[in-house]
Amino acid sequence: MIQLQNIRKSYGSHEVLKGIDLTVNKGDVVVILGPSGSGKTTLLRCVNFLERPSDGQVTISGFTVDCKQPGKQNILKLRRKTAMVFQHYNLFKHKTALENVMEGLVVAQKLPKEEAKQKSLDVLEKVGLSDKIHHYPSQLSGGQQQRVGIARALALSPEVILFDEPTSALDPELVGEVLAVIKKIAREGVTMIVVTHEMGFAREVANHIVFMDGGVIVEEGPPDEIFSNPKEERTKQFVRRIT
Ligand code: ATP
Repeated sequence: MIQLQNIRKSYGSHEVLKGIDLTVNKGDVVVILGPSGSGKTTLLRCVNFLERPSDGQVTISGFTVDCKQPGKQNILKLRRKTAMVFQHYNLFKHKTALENVMEGLVVAQKLPKEEAKQKSLDVLEKVGLSDKIHHYPSQLSGGQQQRVGIARALALSPEVILFDEPTSALDPELVGEVLAVIKKIAREGVTMIVVTHEMGFAREVANHIVFMDGGVIVEEGPPDEIFSNPKEERTKQFVRRIT
């Protein structure tokens, strides 16, 4: 289980997150929606301390880090319970697809090379890239690069995968293949938090929607409730605009 308690984040005098409380259960697929600038990406990056929250607590599987006095080792320990899929893939350009996936297993998890290789081949098969394992990122389409990014996250067997707008850098015709892979691993019970503007995906794959605006959670609940019967005026306006 992941628990965020009173997460706050300010840049100078601009408070971007104003006390977020959120619980994510094992196997949950949580989609964070909201207008541009509402704090979605910042919140996601606070879960693994890529952004250091100004206040609050992050707990993953019983391990709590206090944002005021986190400590380097605690941040590392927390971060290793997570994996992130970035908007711009963030692959190593001079490494092949297979080497990109193996890297975290060998360097961070200290797995023997052969074991890391086998695990990497398994996840690359899962994302449909068995025939591309020796390709470099420059030899792959955006959709294929992002699938390597997903394989890399999956290989780490994290408690949660954090997806930061995973399809927003892709050409429209490549979005579907990436969403299909995310959907497949969601159905296998991988816990995930996804920031996306893909409403169809949110509706179909999420079991919990979080709607943010102005640095707060305005409303949260199952997709049917949020899309068909929102309670808050701000949610109603947002849903009206995007559907
Ligand atoms: P979008 O849908 O456009 O990606 P978002 O909801 O993910 O938006 P964030 O990227 O979390 O929003 O940004 C929230 C606010 O914090 C914005 O006003 C943004 O300008 C500000 N912000 C984000 N990162 C920084 C930073 N490193 N320094 C200063 N301000 C920042």
